[in-house]
Amino acid sequence: MVGSGPAGLAAAAQLNYAGHQVTLFERDDAPGGLLRYGIPDFKLEKWVIDRRVKVMEEEGVVFQCNTNIGVDVKVNDLLREYHAIVLAGGSTIPRDLAIPGRELKGVHFAMDFLKQQNKRVSERPVIGEDIPGNR
Ligand SMILES: Cc1cc2nc3c(=O)[nH]c(=O)nc-3n(C[C@H](O)[C@H](O)[C@H](O)COP(=O)(O)OP(=O)(O)OC[C@H]3O[C@@H](n4cnc5c(N)ncnc54)[C@H](O)[C@@H]3O)c2cc1C
Repeated sequence: MVGSGPAGLAAAAQLNYAGHQVTLFERDDAPGGLLRYGIPDFKLEKWVIDRRVKVMEEEGVVFQCNTNIGVDVKVNDLLREYHAIVLAGGSTIPRDLAIPGRELKGVHFAMDFLKQQNKRVSERPVIGEDIPGNR
């Protein structure tokens, strides 16, 4: 499984229940995708994700974070090592808007802002993602 957002987690759980051995690769430092870094704590506290991940680990799913498929691990290596690959990478490409005010200071893409803010709230390091004025 490439990507550990809700799609990757759900597919991994189902495949594991069906008897397959599942390894979940995530390029970020923790599993969850936008559940973890897109949704603020007041909507979904991160212990809920951690509890679910722990259950899945106990059920046999292997989580491998900090692993960017296509960069850290070649796709050909995955194809050699696994019977099947599910791509559940979501999308981190924002859609820009050509509207008056877009260029103003303090207007950011949602995910640039939310990822940084969620990392701060979780006391995780924010590296190379700093949005000026977001403290
Ligand atoms: C700003 C914003 C706010 C939202 N708010 C809500 C909300 O409040 N409630 C709600 O229900 N939905 C919300 N959504 C929608 C919801 O977040 C998405 O529908 C959902 O996260 C999609 O799940 P996914 O698993 O497909 O992708 P994602 O959650 O994006 O997960 C994809 C994962 O794949 C990883 N990945 C990608 N490429 C690779 C690679 N090459 N190697 C390893 N890992 C990789 C990424 O790091 C990421 O962790 C929001 C979306 C956005 C953009």
